[in-house]
Amino acid sequence: MQATTLADDALTDHAAHTPEAAALAVEHPKAWLDDEAGAGHADAPAGASQALSADKRVKIERETHKLEKRLCRLVGQAIVDFNMIEEGDKVMVCMSGGKDSYGMLDILLKLQKRAPVKFDIVAVNLDQKQPGFPDYILPEYLGSLGIDYHIETQDTYSIVKKNIPEGKTMCSLCSRLRRGILYTVARRLGCNKIALGHHRDDMLQTFFLNMFFGGKLKGMPPKLNSDNGEFIVIRPMAYVYERDLVRWAEHREFPIIPCTLCGSQENLQRKQIGNMLRDWEKQYPGRIKSMFTALQNVVPSHLMDRELFDFQGLKANGQPDEHGDKAFDEEPLPKEEGPLGGVQVVQL
Ligand code: SF4
Repeated sequence: MQATTLADDALTDHAAHTPEAAALAVEHPKAWLDDEAGAGHADAPAGASQALSADKRVKIERETHKLEKRLCRLVGQAIVDFNMIEEGDKVMVCMSGGKDSYGMLDILLKLQKRAPVKFDIVAVNLDQKQPGFPDYILPEYLGSLGIDYHIETQDTYSIVKKNIPEGKTMCSLCSRLRRGILYTVARRLGCNKIALGHHRDDMLQTFFLNMFFGGKLKGMPPKLNSDNGEFIVIRPMAYVYERDLVRWAEHREFPIIPCTLCGSQENLQRKQIGNMLRDWEKQYPGRIKSMFTALQNVVPSHLMDRELFDFQGLKANGQPDEHGDKAFDEEPLPKEEGPLGGVQVVQL
């Protein structure tokens, strides 16, 4: 058992973490991405059925192996693209008991073995004392992995219930309390990075929530300073598809804890946006991929944010620019089968 307590000396000996090793990581990001390293055969779940026919078993094994490779590749790619994890980091992996956080921990532990940098992982769960929360599940699971973990128990549920009148929004106070506690825990455990399990679909949903209800073009960052400036918050699952996490959770038989224990209805809007995206994808296959790619291809001169582009000071400079305004010509749209899946867009 390697559970830590808040009183533990949380600082890890990083003597082996040299500047040379850090340089190696930048030069050789391939080790994060190498599909074959450490992903031989997908681990079988504890209770894998013996009753399947040999053919079916082989097929499932092949598919599962491909899924594991894809998850490792996408997480490794996000880590490299955003330089999420560096030599000597101590990463606090936030565990809610949902499929996303289980998947994140699982894949990070696999990548840790083959990463070109040495870093530590400590899994942390905050037990908010929601009624019916099965508080034995995560300690049992994390204990069985033999990794560092910490369970922080704080009854924020009662505080929220006491301070927020029935029927009013609980989430803002609840998440503010949770954030403060997690920062305290990260500080005490000596973590410099905080990893959250949000995936590609969460990020797109957040983008649309902000646009529809907040009047902002703002998504969910793969990597950013915490609001108190003390930590770096990372989202290693940024490129991962939710459907893959669902399948991985089934395969690994994670002991999922339901996320409805607090009784809040506030995720309703997020669910509606999720349904909207799924409907779009059904109608126009490839649309989600295209929208996600768009989040990585921002053209400030073609938007209207005067903070991002100096419209006030803009003067003709006599230099042709293929990205300049083409006046009456419409922007050409991709003709070949691309991320839009060959859909013809008609200009009216
Ligand atoms: S959904 Fe429930 S647990 Fe999550 S922030 Fe809102 S009140 Fe808290």
